[in-house]
Amino acid sequence: MRSIHARLIPTLWYENESGERWVPVTDADWDSGPPSGYRYQHSRLPFSLRHTVVICNADGSSSVLMAGEQSGPADLMLAVARPSLWQRVRQVALYGWPARTLPPKQAYLVACVSCEACMNELAHRHGLSWGYRRGSQESKSANTTCELCLRVLLIASPESRVRKETA
Ligand SMILES: [Zn+2]
Repeated sequence: MRSIHARLIPTLWYENESGERWVPVTDADWDSGPPSGYRYQHSRLPFSLRHTVVICNADGSSSVLMAGEQSGPADLMLAVARPSLWQRVRQVALYGWPARTLPPKQAYLVACVSCEACMNELAHRHGLSWGYRRGSQESKSANTTCELCLRVLLIASPESRVRKETA
């Protein structure tokens, strides 16, 4: 008998009117699409951050203005929250001391909202086999910004926060 851990739980599948499932597995499945009648697509994405913007009206009511989803690399989330021994060794070898870990929810947010430069710098700092060092040529070439980069600026200079918020 196979262990429950050996089975993969699908993240995307289709169902017909009777609730029968069709799960795409092979490349041919993805190419052909669902069989006729399987028109209900189900998805549950474990590493997807939902961002919702709600407008608050003067009468106390509110309505959703927009919503979207973004994700980040799972290996980065795990390394930031619970690094492996190998990643700890790599962190110390590269930087002289281990990287600060974050609670899992924060690690998840950081991995999802980070821009290209921040994501690669975090990956490098947290001992993954990809990414690059902060201040490196690759980091400068990325020329990206996100909440993480801007937060560093906000902490460094309260005046910059005012400028950012009023810009
Ligand atoms: Zn950034």
